[in-house]
Amino acid sequence: FDKAIFILHDQLNLEAWPDWIKKEKPLLIFIESKEKGESLPYHKQKLTYVLSSMRHFAIECTESGFNVLYHSTEGHYDDGLSAILDGFDGQLTFMTPSEWETRERLRSVKSNFENQVQEIPNSFFLADVDQWKDKIGPNYRMEYFYREIRKQTGYLMDGDDPEGGEWNYDEDNRESLPKNHPLPEFPLFEPDEITKEVMQLIDETFTDHFGELNRFEYAVTRDQACTLLDDFIENRLDKFGPYEDALKTGNHKLFHSQLSLYLNNGLLLPAEVCERALEAYHKGNARLNSVEGFIRQIIGWREFIRIYYEAMMPDVRDANHFGFTNKLPSMFWTGKTKLKCMEESVKPVIEEGYSHHIQRLMILSNFSNLTETDPRELNRWFWFAYIDAYEWVELPNVLGMSTFADGGVLASKPYVSSGNYINKMSDYCKHCEYSVTKKTGENACPFNYLYWNFVDKQRDTFNDSGRVNFMVNMFDNRKSDQEKEAIRESTERFLADLDRES
Ligand code: FAD
Repeated sequence: FDKAIFILHDQLNLEAWPDWIKKEKPLLIFIESKEKGESLPYHKQKLTYVLSSMRHFAIECTESGFNVLYHSTEGHYDDGLSAILDGFDGQLTFMTPSEWETRERLRSVKSNFENQVQEIPNSFFLADVDQWKDKIGPNYRMEYFYREIRKQTGYLMDGDDPEGGEWNYDEDNRESLPKNHPLPEFPLFEPDEITKEVMQLIDETFTDHFGELNRFEYAVTRDQACTLLDDFIENRLDKFGPYEDALKTGNHKLFHSQLSLYLNNGLLLPAEVCERALEAYHKGNARLNSVEGFIRQIIGWREFIRIYYEAMMPDVRDANHFGFTNKLPSMFWTGKTKLKCMEESVKPVIEEGYSHHIQRLMILSNFSNLTETDPRELNRWFWFAYIDAYEWVELPNVLGMSTFADGGVLASKPYVSSGNYINKMSDYCKHCEYSVTKKTGENACPFNYLYWNFVDKQRDTFNDSGRVNFMVNMFDNRKSDQEKEAIRESTERFLADLDRES
């Protein structure tokens, strides 16, 4: 072979690679790296997903006439690739890895094999990093970017105006779920022989890693991922918008798509997913606020987050605006807690590596912020615990969006709330041992006093350019000295008793 392509585990779609590859059929190289798998205690189902979908994809490539070199290394990707290049005289192309460390490693291979290796830009995303990267900063919000991408793609545009007259229909998208509302079923897949083999390998090799592996029901091929996309468009998209922020005991998916893992390794591409949603809207099968809300998550948040990563790495890895130093509460590992909302948000992560956006943001991150946990610890947890986690997408969401660790580059305020918000959006509090109506003292919902403690202590972050924030004002002027003392006492007791990772 005079030409070869190295395809990483999250680049599994030839439609996103240059056209010449399908015509010329160079050698395709895949590498399984034990060191990458061991670099964090990744969820066992995440590792299963990564390896099984890569193995399936490699087999599909051979079936469509490619020669494939499938290599396994004890080391990292650079070790595997260097070993291959030692015995290969042709030209090798790799696509810029979306994750920083792998990128650095492949670039070092490129400098060691200067005349043989070339890097091409990553084409699994819609927005061009160079066009937007310099804009990232506290004055540039996702919404500005999103409008530009709407214009660029023409998605939901009516000439120069947004479809329906508004750019954003979020006001219609904040409903809690009515009691007894029917809930959708999700198609599940039985593991085939390839997946079973991978499950065994992961169980034996990564025994101490996070999460359960007694079942595995995710798609691992493009065909299966397309079945899930069809199912979402048909059965859930229409209600995605209104119940996007809702939380429900015993159901951690509701009307969400659960497509992030397939978008993040290429089995599905962002444009096709958006175009299917648009098609449903134009056929009258899905309402505008749902389709707009869904498309905004993909061409807005997902793309913006990736540009933020490119602009902020690597320094952002150390971001810790509030200077919190506490370890992660142990319940993030065990799911064992009297707090129903935390139990409901951690358990599905242990069982399946997934919980939906509001659980990640308004329960897990909120609790981490209020318990003054080091955001880098939370960041690490999100990276290894979720099936859809890759550093480029989880880090901005954790250190930028949900913990305010970057000091306000991505979000304008920290995402924190008292038990009231959780009670409004969910039925968790009804099933909880704590009382959401009690503000302090024994059995009071900890979110209540922890929230006011946070507002008090982090008042500078809430106050806006000299103006006193509404909540800070509430604390200062509407709470009696006795209430303030009770908040401090309850907080101190709760934080002192909280079991944390050692
Ligand atoms: P849906 O609610 O159906 O949304 C549709 C799609 O939009 C998602 O599949 C995803 O591709 C995209 N999307 C939505 N919100 C975001 C966002 N904030 N950032 C980027 N893409 C978004 N997403 C990941 O893909 N990987 C992660 O590791 C990850 N970590 C997160 C950590 C925290 C603390 C928070 C608050 C969010 C995180 N997200 C992450 C974003 C979002 O929560 C998930 O993309 C979403 O929950 C995935 O489920 P879904 O496919 O059902 O999404």
